[in-house]
Amino acid sequence: MDIGFIGLGEMGTAMVANMLKAGHRVRVWNRSPERAQSLAQAGAQVVATPAEAFAGDAVFSMLADDTALREVVSAGLLEGAARGLIHVNMATISVTLAEELAHAHAARGLHYVAAPVMGRPDVAAAAKLTIIAAGPAEAIDRVQPVFDAIGQKTWRIGSLAQQANVAKLAANFMLASAVETLGEASALLGGHGVAMQDFLDIITSSVFPGPVYQGYGKMIAEQRYEPALFKARLGLKDVRLALAAAELVSTPLPVGSAVRDSLLEAIAHGDGEKDFAVLGKVAARRAGR
Ligand code: NAP
Repeated sequence: MDIGFIGLGEMGTAMVANMLKAGHRVRVWNRSPERAQSLAQAGAQVVATPAEAFAGDAVFSMLADDTALREVVSAGLLEGAARGLIHVNMATISVTLAEELAHAHAARGLHYVAAPVMGRPDVAAAAKLTIIAAGPAEAIDRVQPVFDAIGQKTWRIGSLAQQANVAKLAANFMLASAVETLGEASALLGGHGVAMQDFLDIITSSVFPGPVYQGYGKMIAEQRYEPALFKARLGLKDVRLALAAAELVSTPLPVGSAVRDSLLEAIAHGDGEKDFAVLGKVAARRAGR
């Protein structure tokens, strides 16, 4: 396909590399142009404005957050795009903005698909992302070959774009809660002289298997929070988005509120750029260790 791509951060760069490998023609734009260099060598066409990326069969965006997306996807950009263009936004954004964008695109004859992903940059590099897609079914059908180039599976979850964002936020809320409880359990064990690693071996080979408990549990056991694969600052963004989505439908998330405060505590102590697993350090500090 002939596609555009906006946002060459950790995730976007890995995703474009796999799109190129699969034979798609990709025009890339990034606010800081130097990040496009390695992809230019791999065959991407580097363009100077978002408008040049907003052309062809479809354009994908993987920007940091709501603010970045609002800055880049202005009304003028949508006015200038050819009718029928599909915009696939794969970033983790708010439910409110997803709904707003779906309306704004439809009003101009454009299709908007929300396709947030699960998987960190190493998973993106291995083309093994889990993609949660929602929006007009025909538009999703048309971009499926591109999803196949970057992900291991696409799950369709609804016809309203924001439904995919809610699913992604619910998943990250669960992830955050799991890391918080791992941290608290570690503090409890430490107080009684039990090694976290010994406990992890038991728990992950019985009732709590899986990458979250194994991966984050190991980092907490080793008190190793750098290099950050998923920064605490970004984790806070996602928990806040989940709380905002819950508030829209008058749904309390008491565990989410507690995790938000733990992440704020991490940031207040200068650990915002460290891995999300730094919640283990927060729990230990609260326990006086
Ligand atoms: P990242 O490495 O920090 O990249 C952020 C991208 O957004 C960069 O291209 C950056 O451009 C751009 N950007 C930020 N503010 C901007 C603005 N005001 N105007 C224009 N461009 C702006 O982030 P990432 O890890 O790739 O994450 C991207 C999205 O994927 C986020 O929504 C994140 O929550 C989601 N996600 C991340 C992971 C993960 O593990 N990292 C996993 C799943 C989903 P510059 O290069 O110019 O700064």
